[in-house]
Amino acid sequence: MSAKPLAESPLASLLSALPERGELQFPSPLRCLILSEESLAAIFDVFREFFGEGYRSLLYNLGHAIGHRFAVEASGDPRKRFQELADVDALAGWGRYELVELDLENRRARVVVRNALAVEIARRIRSDCCDFTRGYFAGIFEQIFQVPCICEELECAYYGSEACVFEIRSE
Ligand SMILES: [Zn+2]
Repeated sequence: MSAKPLAESPLASLLSALPERGELQFPSPLRCLILSEESLAAIFDVFREFFGEGYRSLLYNLGHAIGHRFAVEASGDPRKRFQELADVDALAGWGRYELVELDLENRRARVVVRNALAVEIARRIRSDCCDFTRGYFAGIFEQIFQVPCICEELECAYYGSEACVFEIRSE
């Protein structure tokens, strides 16, 4: 798989650059930021240094708050809704999510994440970072299921699995 020039990516139609203002919007008019994996690794590493093992809870809560805010704007069919969110995240560089199970009646879902940025960060700082993604999916599915949710990671690419696998269920 080869990298495409930005102009050929769907991202180009969603991204607006305002260089004279030092501003980037994705999607317009929502201001956004390009953050390298090295910068994100530095942030997560500082969290870890400051909070010790508590940093995992911090990452979970951070992911949860972001997922909850991100998903609130979406509406419609749950599967389509998740796919729209996954597509935006893929364009933004977070990795590829696949919804492999969705049980609306029992409010359970399973998501496979390939090429996760969180795993890349984990390799850089030599510490598991998927608690961020766990919290993120809990926040997203709380919006989709409209009940408080918890998320467990069943397999993790940081520990050698082919992908990270997350299970989300109502609390
Ligand atoms: Zn993982």
